[in-house]
Amino acid sequence: NTFAEIDLGEALNDNIRNRCKYVKPTPIQRHAIPVALAGRDLMACAQTGSGKTAAFCFPIICGVLNLQSPPEAAAGFGRREMTAYPLALVLSPTRELCCQIHEEAKKFCYQTGVKVAVAYGGAPIGHQLRSFEKGVDILVATPGRLTDVIERSRVSLKRVKYLALDEADRMLDMGFEPQIRKIVECLDMPPPGRRQTMLFSATFPEQIQRLASDFLSNYIFLSV
Ligand code: AMP
Repeated sequence: NTFAEIDLGEALNDNIRNRCKYVKPTPIQRHAIPVALAGRDLMACAQTGSGKTAAFCFPIICGVLNLQSPPEAAAGFGRREMTAYPLALVLSPTRELCCQIHEEAKKFCYQTGVKVAVAYGGAPIGHQLRSFEKGVDILVATPGRLTDVIERSRVSLKRVKYLALDEADRMLDMGFEPQIRKIVECLDMPPPGRRQTMLFSATFPEQIQRLASDFLSNYIFLSV
């Protein structure tokens, strides 16, 4: 019933305690985080305010920390790259939600070396592109702007190992399904490199059930 009991590692636990001041996991966090840490795909029905952002961010951050070998991270530091190769992608419907996730994720990642960037529409792209140049481990994006930065070759999804879709029902309501499907197609890697996917939605209508069966493999269903 504490974060320390879930094996999130020292750095993340320090940030949860000292920067976020979270005392104990919310129900969605208690159930989703161990499942995701065990490597399973996840379909979670959870509302805004349930703590779902941390529920998908914590396993992603743990995964990214495991993938990053320190020498490689050190070699990449300070080098300016034209194309960013995030290890994790979070898709979210709106600029507001992207910004919220980005702000929270930066707190979670404080002093871990994990770099978080954001890309959303309705704002000039230049600043977002420049922010990618110092490297991106976790990219938080709206489907439209992500498609744009992929077409400009400023982001490649070929190293993405973790995918989270937040508020999937809202993304579908906004007409993002074709873009989401195209995005997911360009990050499919064969086993054992297979990506891990977490799908979050407030509701679970037929259209979301179809996404779940298309994007997830052998998934755990959670509803809180
Ligand atoms: P979310 O559902 O992810 O939008 O989170 C809603 C709010 O709850 C955010 O302000 C979070 O910072 C906060 N929150 C998330 N997890 C916890 C927790 N375990 N304890 C206290 N507050 C939390």
